[in-house]
Amino acid sequence: DSGGLIVSFGEMLIDFVPTVSGVSLAEAPGFLKAPGGAPANVAIAVARLGGRAAFVGKLGDDEFGHMLAGILKDNGVNGDGILFDQGARTALAFVTLRSDGEREFMFYRNPSADMLLKPTELNLDVIAAAKIFHYGSISLITEPCRSAHLRAMEVAKEAGALLSYDPNLRLPLWPSPKDARDQILSIWEHADIIKVSDVELEFLTDREVSDEAALSLWHPGLKLLLLTLGEKGCRYYTKDFRGAVDTFKVKTVDTTGAGDAFVGALLTKILHDHSVLEDETRLREVLKFSNACGAITTTKKGAIPALPNESEVHQLLQG
Ligand code: ADP
Repeated sequence: DSGGLIVSFGEMLIDFVPTVSGVSLAEAPGFLKAPGGAPANVAIAVARLGGRAAFVGKLGDDEFGHMLAGILKDNGVNGDGILFDQGARTALAFVTLRSDGEREFMFYRNPSADMLLKPTELNLDVIAAAKIFHYGSISLITEPCRSAHLRAMEVAKEAGALLSYDPNLRLPLWPSPKDARDQILSIWEHADIIKVSDVELEFLTDREVSDEAALSLWHPGLKLLLLTLGEKGCRYYTKDFRGAVDTFKVKTVDTTGAGDAFVGALLTKILHDHSVLEDETRLREVLKFSNACGAITTTKKGAIPALPNESEVHQLLQG
């Protein structure tokens, strides 16, 4: 064990993806059933790249919940922190692919099992074993999972883990945009690593994408801020340096999961070598690798089915 464990916390669900791009949900001739949910995607991205990953979250005690738990297991993700709710169902998302490869979501969550995770149910042994603890913000929307999320962050931090935050804005899920912004920013200062997309940056700062807007999200304890820009690659900010790294030209069919692949790759590399956070040359190499992982993920439908393994990434890097 050269690097330790990455623990990813939050929701896991099924994405129903139309088999044909560029149609509305109602027009879809059929759906591909793709497992997803940002934190689970990240856990699997890490495991596919050879890192040790665990997922902590709650699923429904139903066909979909057990299918998802099986997928984590089959991908080598530790599932000791997975719970099954006896009452609520597993969350579902219907993901419409537009002809440009961008996506739109509709959710089944009223409430879904993931939202019912209680702080007292958390597997604290798994969380305290984290060298990196990764989370989103969907679990902040309602109680009791909001308290579970805050408790898990606290336990991980006390155990010495680096905290990694991808707010993963899914605006339609929030009671209001203001609520989304307030809740997302309420846990901002705890994170060591934050990744935002261009859309999230604009939403959180109410400004157009720029270095100044990104740096307005800086906080004193932060070690690395990343801004992902889709086909334009990413920008990075630390207290000592900043810059941009291009991504790769690929044939994009569905961008679902690209950000999660990017984060999973980045965390896997940081887990093995913390100096990435201080050494710009190393960081740029790692971000090139992370961009490659994001790019490959856009070449296939769905999130988890599209996440690359190391040999696929090296193939693209050596291109
Ligand atoms: P999110 O999925 O969080 O919205 P992005 O769409 O910015 O994040 O994608 C994350 C990363 O995946 C990007 O920084 C880039 O490296 C890669 N990526 C995304 N879309 C493309 C694309 N169309 N072509 C090449 N790389 C892409």
